[in-house]
Amino acid sequence: MRLIDDPTLGLPTHHARQAAVGHVTLVGAGPGDPDLLTVKAARALREASLVLHDHLVGEHVLDLLPATATRIYVGKESAHHTMSQDSIIELMLRLAREGRSLVRLKGGDGYIFGRGGEEAQALAEAGIPFDVIPGITAAQGAAASVGIPLTHREHAGTLVFATGHGKRDDPAELDWELLARPRQTVVIYMGVASLPLICERLVAHGLDPSTPAALVERATLADERCVCGSVASLPALAKLHRVKPPALIMIGSVVSLQPVLSSTVRAEAA
Ligand code: SAH
Repeated sequence: MRLIDDPTLGLPTHHARQAAVGHVTLVGAGPGDPDLLTVKAARALREASLVLHDHLVGEHVLDLLPATATRIYVGKESAHHTMSQDSIIELMLRLAREGRSLVRLKGGDGYIFGRGGEEAQALAEAGIPFDVIPGITAAQGAAASVGIPLTHREHAGTLVFATGHGKRDDPAELDWELLARPRQTVVIYMGVASLPLICERLVAHGLDPSTPAALVERATLADERCVCGSVASLPALAKLHRVKPPALIMIGSVVSLQPVLSSTVRAEAA
């Protein structure tokens, strides 16, 4: 790829990058099922000697690592982070400066609610060379697995990914008017705890409470669950079925296709 930097933007130069010794590969581990890793990600894992991994990386994904690889769990479960983001970045930079080549492994795709952007920025600023290998994000894994197409010409021409986990554990900063628009699919990551608030605000901003909505828990893993209802009924259903993170909220008329598409998916797989 040829990069043409705008000199007025003050971006780090490629000379600065060459000064560093180590190397970091930011790898998206996909939603959990190891078969959903990209070929490139699987290769990076098989060749890894040092891995910094997050909580949401499927355990069977880690099975691909050589037995000799050093694994450092840096956590990140909603509410209790094993290491702060700053310490993770510090550790990654220190190891790379010592000349180590390491894999930074994140659930789903690192650039989708994965703080991969912040880590890549830190690496760029430090002049440490890095590669980014994309992963299948949870929304895609869940969509395929439970039978909810994210776009569909008869249902949704716009797809929005949003986070329900704001800086103060309150999704109040979301753009509710945008999220409540018709003919779109909204997928909310990290939204389980805020589900009642999210549904209430969407309806207050004009979304029809009968709009189909689903929760997909542990998508693509053996114990995956999908709870379907409407924007009005989903909070009570979540409580009833004790839905826990990691789970996605999917909202929009595409969710109405789930019963038909999931039975076809299962029948084909059988
Ligand atoms: N970078 C990740 C998202 C990390 S944010 C990605 O691209 O998928 C963490 C949130 O992702 C969780 O709270 C949950 O909403 C969602 N998530 C991750 N894995 C999931 C899974 N297997 N099933 C359902 N939701 C998942």
